[in-house]
Amino acid sequence: MSSVLSLARPDILQLQPYQHATWDPSLERMHANEMPWRASGDNSAAGLNRYPEPQPKALVERMAQLYGVPASRVLVGRGSDEAIDLLVRAFCRAGEDSVVICPPTFGFYKVAAKIQGAQVVEVPLLRDPFALDVPAVLAAGHRAKIVFLCSPNNPTGNLLDEATMLGICRELSGSSLVCVDEAYIEFAGRPSLAGRLGEFPNLVLLRTLSKAYALAGARLGTLLAGEEIVDLLKRIIPPYAIPASTVEEVLQLTQAPQRASSAARIGTLLEERARMQGRLARMPAVARVFPSDANFLLVEFRDARRALGAGKVVGLLVRDFSAAPGLANCLRISVGTPEQNERLLAALEHL
Ligand code: PMP
Repeated sequence: MSSVLSLARPDILQLQPYQHATWDPSLERMHANEMPWRASGDNSAAGLNRYPEPQPKALVERMAQLYGVPASRVLVGRGSDEAIDLLVRAFCRAGEDSVVICPPTFGFYKVAAKIQGAQVVEVPLLRDPFALDVPAVLAAGHRAKIVFLCSPNNPTGNLLDEATMLGICRELSGSSLVCVDEAYIEFAGRPSLAGRLGEFPNLVLLRTLSKAYALAGARLGTLLAGEEIVDLLKRIIPPYAIPASTVEEVLQLTQAPQRASSAARIGTLLEERARMQGRLARMPAVARVFPSDANFLLVEFRDARRALGAGKVVGLLVRDFSAAPGLANCLRISVGTPEQNERLLAALEHL
């Protein structure tokens, strides 16, 4: 067994996976206890009376093409949230194993670990700029199963240093997976680490269609990793995980013309991000605007509650992070349309 698989839960390695109804579109289906007719009004291509293909081949190939990796390195799931959950389930024994997170960061790593009964070791980001505390991450990582890094990080907005992340990955090979969540990478003007997967068997990447591709409602996330990790996770992903409607919509909405329009939208969003950064930084109500490589801005206000209230008065909701450790008076503002941004800026300028 390779060293990376030896990190997985032994009972999961032994598990006899659920046997799906065989997928063979050349034969008519009388083997899956489905209704033979469509529901009335069902105009879907595949027919919603039928279970979808597990890990649909066309979808996996589309994501492989989108992210520039071979299809064997791709696992698709219901959002990257599902990929996080699967990783923790496959690698962490309840009550025994741990994951490392670097707060302030995306909240679901911790929740997924706790649901699984894994311990969560927190190694806070260093400040000014937000950056990894490498010796502390390594010390905790040597005793953990998964180190979650988020780049660009939510909610701070900044990229983590690529050489540092890969250095951590190298140091921890044989002792821990390093999962780099690239949910916001398309806004960063930097390439993904996908091209480096071949060099690091313990590197796992998370990508999503929820942000740059404007498909959060479709719920499609992709995990990119070595084949062995992908094959292991395929054994535990719930049967028929991706709804047929999602498969059809995603195949339709990630073709070349849609990809071009999404690239153009990202361009507009980045212009708006810069405009908001400039305006916010000059406001008396604002103590600090943190640099952002993502589609949101972390902003420290003099009085976050007043700023939150001013947004609500003009019908806009931003996210309050002021209770998070180290983020007193901070709000996270997702960049909106130019009209929404203008409405928010005008409201905050009057504070
Ligand atoms: N990772 C990060 C860093 C996120 O911010 C989010 C969603 N806010 C996710 C993952 C989950 O994304 P998905 O919609 O793909 O489940």
